[in-house]
Amino acid sequence: MELQGRVLSVASECVPLVKTGGLADVAGALPAALAPLGWDMRVLMPAYRSLRPRIADWPEVWREEGLWGGTGIVRQGVVDGVTVLALDAPHLFDREGGPYGGPHGDWWDNPQRFAALSWVAARIAREGLADWKPDVLHAHDWQAGLAPAYLAFGGAGGVGTVITIHNIAFQGWAHSTLLGELRLPRSEFHPGALEYYGGLSMLKAGLVTADRVTTVSPHYAEELMRPEFGMGLQGVIAARAAEGAVSGILNGVDTAVWSPEAGPHPFSARSMKGKAEARAALCDEFGLGVPGPLAILVSRLTDQKGIDILPAAVPDFIAGGGGLLVLGSGDPALEAAMQALVTRFPGRVAVRIGYDEALSRRMFAGGDAVLVPSRFEPCGLTQMYGLRFGTLPVVSAVGGLSDTVIDASPAALAAGVATGVVFHPVDALGLGQALRRLLALHADRAVWTALQKNAMRQPLGWETSAAAYAALYAGLRG
Ligand code: ADP
Repeated sequence: MELQGRVLSVASECVPLVKTGGLADVAGALPAALAPLGWDMRVLMPAYRSLRPRIADWPEVWREEGLWGGTGIVRQGVVDGVTVLALDAPHLFDREGGPYGGPHGDWWDNPQRFAALSWVAARIAREGLADWKPDVLHAHDWQAGLAPAYLAFGGAGGVGTVITIHNIAFQGWAHSTLLGELRLPRSEFHPGALEYYGGLSMLKAGLVTADRVTTVSPHYAEELMRPEFGMGLQGVIAARAAEGAVSGILNGVDTAVWSPEAGPHPFSARSMKGKAEARAALCDEFGLGVPGPLAILVSRLTDQKGIDILPAAVPDFIAGGGGLLVLGSGDPALEAAMQALVTRFPGRVAVRIGYDEALSRRMFAGGDAVLVPSRFEPCGLTQMYGLRFGTLPVVSAVGGLSDTVIDASPAALAAGVATGVVFHPVDALGLGQALRRLLALHADRAVWTALQKNAMRQPLGWETSAAAYAALYAGLRG
């Protein structure tokens, strides 16, 4: 494929190097998905402590003096086929702890750390590396929010800009006294630009200055214009949407990794025997005996995920023959609430507190349904894993969940397109009714099998996403 253009992707995390959330999956997956479409993407990210040994012998491709108290050196290398530009600025990134904080909370200088990432991104975009000049800069979340701003205020050099919101809950707030230190023009400190409730939001800076704004599902893009989802930025999103600058592009999943044919009990839509074996193995592992549908939940245990509504909704489901297997960690009160269900329903409910990707895979293979009762969900991945494995998603009608699951309504069943159960509002009554419907669907083998086949047929790879991003970039190339 002939070269269509070059994109500098700017992200604070990227699979397989550093991951705390879905942003890392997108940053890591897009380059390979875009390559066949003629888009050459490189990913600029910080060289955190864990990366430094790996990049030590990569060639230097950029040097930035005076980068908030030290020198930043950008080293280029290839990791799993992705060309990575690692910003090595030890005074900012060589620390014991996570990308955003240590044992005592967020790093105090996060505004400066990610301003530095954005500054270097803007400089590389504007001036180009020796052999590579991007046409488009694609910023992810607040950590890269200042990159489009620096280009907008300091001259863009013909580079188009996109910012993607992965989760609007994180807005990169900074005190207004940092304006000068963050190299932002005082003339732009007003509500129409950088000012945000008296301070600065690095995400807002990106949202008002980027040529295009995307988020990770079409439904979330619409929700973000409402106060209950926009978390203060609804007016900004609505204004950009009115200009036609906002769109939603669903994330994909790695269909080779999340494949029912890849596990120890392989199966496919044509032959589901392996799924029954996987279910039996899972029930053995957790001492479960479940006559009806086995629901799984793999999630951070937080308020966002609607975990608190489970205890009131589950008893009827258990009484109807269902079972529940939970994997997750988070809020101690929610962890305790899940443990209490085990005590109340031994042999029907099991819980594993922790993070365990191998177990999550066994659960998606062996479960009958996956519960995702989120209050908000920008895209969501577990419902897509569920679809892949014929583990029918039971989801709330928010964000990417309502874009990916087709409710088993009478109309959808008649049309033969249903893939799961969608409920609203997000409360115990809503989830309880959804679980009652799940029991009824499960009791009808023909209907259940048809739903599983529909689910497993859904195209969930990165191809569709990549084509949408490619079209967006092409529109900005000038
Ligand atoms: P979020 O990014 O809001 O946590 P997503 O559904 O977009 O929600 O992504 C969550 C990812 O983390 C999924 O890949 C999910 O399988 C995984 N995950 C969450 N909790 C666990 C856990 N306890 N063990 C293994 N994987 C988990």
